[in-house]
Amino acid sequence: MNIAEPQLRKVVRAILGAGGSDEHEAELVTDHLVRANLAGHDSHGVGMIPTYVKHLEAGLLKPNTAAEKVKDEGTILAFDGHRGYGQRVALEAMDAAIKRCKETGLVLMSLRNAHHIGRIGTYGERAIDAGLVSLHFVNVTDHRPLVAPFGGTDARFGTNPICIAMPGGDETEPLLLDMATSKIALGKTRVAMNQGVEVDDGRLLDGQGEPTNDPNVMFSEPYGALLPLGDHKGYGLAMFCELLGGVLSGGGTIQPGHERLGSIVNNMLTFVIDPAKLVDIPWMRAEIDATVRYFKASPPAHADNPVLSPGDPERRAKEVRQREGIPLADRAWEGILAAGEEVGFSREEAEALRKG
Ligand code: NAD
Repeated sequence: MNIAEPQLRKVVRAILGAGGSDEHEAELVTDHLVRANLAGHDSHGVGMIPTYVKHLEAGLLKPNTAAEKVKDEGTILAFDGHRGYGQRVALEAMDAAIKRCKETGLVLMSLRNAHHIGRIGTYGERAIDAGLVSLHFVNVTDHRPLVAPFGGTDARFGTNPICIAMPGGDETEPLLLDMATSKIALGKTRVAMNQGVEVDDGRLLDGQGEPTNDPNVMFSEPYGALLPLGDHKGYGLAMFCELLGGVLSGGGTIQPGHERLGSIVNNMLTFVIDPAKLVDIPWMRAEIDATVRYFKASPPAHADNPVLSPGDPERRAKEVRQREGIPLADRAWEGILAAGEEVGFSREEAEALRKG
């Protein structure tokens, strides 16, 4: 089914409110989740609600929790998310880093102990909107490992995302690289499972460490593993997400000495840079235009697939989905309705909001 954005927002806001979030928090989290769907990243959109409700009920996600600033030393800011909604605490930490960067030109910001912070591109977009550049390194703890190290046969770490964001030029759109360091994000296997389709070759190992296309191996024992992107190179990036995001934030890594309670905790190390402190902005914008134009002029390998920039697929998805609605698999919608019921929001009320 396709659900129009405004209707979907109403349903999600209501379920989050029933789950204990005040209006402000329910609005922030709803905005993040629905924008992830609009960007085409259903893996990090409203389909996460059943997981969040499970974590709420287990006391592993704490509604109405703000980011606490635990260090403030000039260009260095550190925050603790105290297991609050990641979409909220990471945004608060990011906004503080952006504000400081306007004064100092460079900020190193860390965030530890946030419940799932969702689509990292959201924070990169915040930097872009402020005319800034940002880099984000994120690890995942409190969850079973999902990705096998290069050369290994079982899962040892999370899908550890990296994001790099930069404003566009005068003619070109902003650039936003936002990706898991696994070949595909776990949520993409959930979406494939919900749709009953296989995943492409070379992305998954089964519980015996053998290649498979079956997304179900990620959701039932013996668990399989995702493979890192780019073999040893992606594995190296994932390791540095652990070390930069996990160690330097103080949140810790996925090593088994830390208890895993079964929720999703993210730690993030973020650099925010004001390009105006380094270069002349009109020159930078012209240089970005010329570079992007040059890359995109490469003759396409397939006539109907021209060269794109990072960020283009999400912009395209948003245009289509704002017009046509957000596609949701029946199984995903059913999961949302059931999660709503868990927190006391009836499916009749949800259906009524969906129909507008
Ligand atoms: P993906 O593989 O769909 O896309 C990754 C990036 O590649 C995007 O920046 C996109 O613009 C770019 N891209 C895609 N096609 C392109 C093309 N043809 N040319 C140029 N650039 C192109 O994303 P993913 O790795 O599945 O990650 C999905 C989302 O999951 C991301 O938003 C990420 O932040 C999120 N994530 C979050 C966590 C977490 O713990 N919070 C963990 C993993 C992933």
